[in-house]
Amino acid sequence: QMTDLAEMTEDVVDRFSLQLRQKAITVRVQVEPGLQKAWIDRDGIDQVLDNLMSNAIKYTLDGGSIILSSRLNDAGQLSISVKDTGIGIPKKDLAHIFDRFYRVDKARSRSMGGTGLGLSIAREIVRAHGGSISIESELNVGTTVTATLPLTQEGSEHP
Ligand code: ATP
Ligand code: MG
Repeated sequence: QMTDLAEMTEDVVDRFSLQLRQKAITVRVQVEPGLQKAWIDRDGIDQVLDNLMSNAIKYTLDGGSIILSSRLNDAGQLSISVKDTGIGIPKKDLAHIFDRFYRVDKARSRSMGGTGLGLSIAREIVRAHGGSISIESELNVGTTVTATLPLTQEGSEHP
């Protein structure tokens, strides 16, 4: 549907306000000025953003911070990233992190709950929309996950 991308980015934070408050995590939302409306599958993309936001909160200690940002990249694609100051992911695990049921360090993950499906579902949705998803992480420093999606701009013909 025709979606206000700034509003979509801001709405994610609202859906997690309780958990954010409970962990005293601060969120900064950055939306590139002039980001237009676009035709996207709002429900699908919301599901991706919720999965990324849920991870950022779950794997960030109390008092940490998250930056959620949306911008257009040089190719005119929507690039949305969720950056946290959390526990990070060891280098050896990074290549597997989008696999179904893969979780870093069973002992560490078990106490947090979850099935290890969030990222694999997020990648499936993003790919179904012709986009891609990538992750950068440093252990004990933080993690950034970026989803990149092709856009059909307002005014142009949509599929
Ligand atoms: P689910 O999303 O199904 O509730 P999950 O969060 O464990 O469970 P994924 O979202 O697929 O599963 O993430 C896979 C694993 O990647 C997690 O178990 C965690 O070890 C690691 N991980 C994901 N996001 C982060 C993050 N932002 N910081 C640190 N580790 C992360
Ligand atoms: Mg998850």
